[in-house]
Amino acid sequence: MSKSPEEEFPQKAFGWAARDTSGHLSPFKFSRRATGEDDVTFKVMYCGICHSDLHSLKNEWGFSTYPMVPGHEIVGIVTEVGQKVSKFKVGDKVGVGCMVGACHSCDNCSNDLENYCPKMILTYNATYYDGSKTQGGYSDVMVAAERYVVKIPDNLPLDAGAPLLCAGITVYSPLKYYGLSEPGKHVGVVGLGGLGHVAVKFAKAFGVKVTVISTSPAKEKEAIEHLGADSFLVSRNQEQMQAAMSTMDGIIDTVSALHPLLPLIGLLKPHGKLVMVGAPDKPMELPIFPLLMGRKMVAGSAIGGMKETQEMIDFAGKHNITADVEVIPMDYVNTAMERLAKADVRYRFVIDIANTLPKTA
Ligand SMILES: [Zn+2]
Ligand SMILES: [Zn+2]
Repeated sequence: MSKSPEEEFPQKAFGWAARDTSGHLSPFKFSRRATGEDDVTFKVMYCGICHSDLHSLKNEWGFSTYPMVPGHEIVGIVTEVGQKVSKFKVGDKVGVGCMVGACHSCDNCSNDLENYCPKMILTYNATYYDGSKTQGGYSDVMVAAERYVVKIPDNLPLDAGAPLLCAGITVYSPLKYYGLSEPGKHVGVVGLGGLGHVAVKFAKAFGVKVTVISTSPAKEKEAIEHLGADSFLVSRNQEQMQAAMSTMDGIIDTVSALHPLLPLIGLLKPHGKLVMVGAPDKPMELPIFPLLMGRKMVAGSAIGGMKETQEMIDFAGKHNITADVEVIPMDYVNTAMERLAKADVRYRFVIDIANTLPKTA
């Protein structure tokens, strides 16, 4: 007979889990493996709430298993390291993002692209090497292999830094890979939410010209005055869109709802790239003719490898880039999920795990 989640492993853990597709989160006692020779164990201080958490909790992508402790923007303080761990010591500020394992022998892994390994192991709602179920950061303690842990620069606040581990790398990696981080380039950012607002910050730090493209005219002031975007387009305003045709080297599209791609492709210069980082749950219509006529590209991107994730967070430290966050107590999480579903957050919820989770035990 298999042991209960509480007795499966030696390290006691406490978090909030969903038990079924209602996605409702409630207190959950479980356990984590002992600190292995390559492992880093840390006390979780904060965990960001990513839109993927909401999709996963409600099984909207169809592969959820329960009980599920979500959370893949996890930051904390190291409490124990294995004998072979060389990069971290007790007391370090660290983080774990969307993945905790991969095969380490394929081409992707050899090239520091664990995120594209066919055997990549997600931080939660996946099966670890030992057959156990991975559980995320809405919990008091985390254990992860050193390779999947990043060092958080001292000057970055842990709460506002947490979302960089998913939202940050999700936009940083395509800006770099698709050549959109070179000064002088003009980059569009579609959607001003959790991903979009950090995309604007990274792009500005790279020295590129940034235009935010949004359905909501009300976001113009915020985009320009607060986030530092150079210009703003209301996607429903034909005149504005027409005037901006063929001006952008690339676009980072963060919107996960269905939306027309043709106007965005029109904004690209010849050879421009439209990079999708949001994940609509239905296929979208892709007009081909305008792609041919400008040798344009529609592409995708998913987080980044661990080497690049460390590079991203070091860059964020150097340029003081953090997410704009609303820090919440653990017992507010179900309300936060309802608000997130309505995009009612500027721009990321972060759970104050260390101060508020124990009180819910
Ligand atoms: Zn995420
Ligand atoms: Zn691999």
